[in-house]
Parts: sequence; structure tokens; C-alpha cells
Amino acid sequence: MPSIEKHLNKSMERTGKEYREIHEWIDEPNHKHERHDITKILEFGRMFEEKYGEEGAQEYIQHIHDDLNGKFGHLLEDVEKMVKDTLTYFGAKQS
Ligand SMILES: [Zn+2]
Repeated sequence: MPSIEKHLNKSMERTGKEYREIHEWIDEPNHKHERHDITKILEFGRMFEEKYGEEGAQEYIQHIHDDLNGKFGHLLEDVEKMVKDTLTYFGAKQS
């Protein structure tokens, strides 16, 4: 998962603002799971829209999206390494 700093930088690049409160709220350790719950995206999105306007809501959704991308990117690397290690274990040549 990208660190808070990465989220802040991305928001800055996109909007010229950090939206630090949004990213800290989403990644708050005690609530991390429910706040990354994709089924809550509409509910939380509306909440952020009320508080920070449409741009804030977009940055919230972007945060979830970037986390998923980070996760899947990482997952893919893990699987590739696992396959490689397994091939090596069985003495197969790398193609
Ligand atoms: Zn996150």
C-alpha cells in the first residue's frame, strides 16, 4: 500500500492540494479496513463531497484506486517470484 506521503504527493500533482485530512482518515490504523471497503465508496464519497467538494470526493476514490493498484502490483511481483523460485527448486530452466 502506498505510504501516506505518496498519496499526498499524488493529490498534489493532480489537484495542487495535499488533501492530507482525507488520506489520514482513510489510512487511520484502527479503521483502515472499513474505510477501504469498496462497498462504502458511495457513502464515504458523499461525505467527502459535502466536506471538501467534488474534488475531495475524487481524491478519496483515487486513494482507494491507488491502493488497489499498489496492492495488485505487489501481488503480481510476489507471484512472479514464487513461480521463479518454484521453477528453480525443480531445476527447470528460466525461459
Ligand atoms: Zn490507503
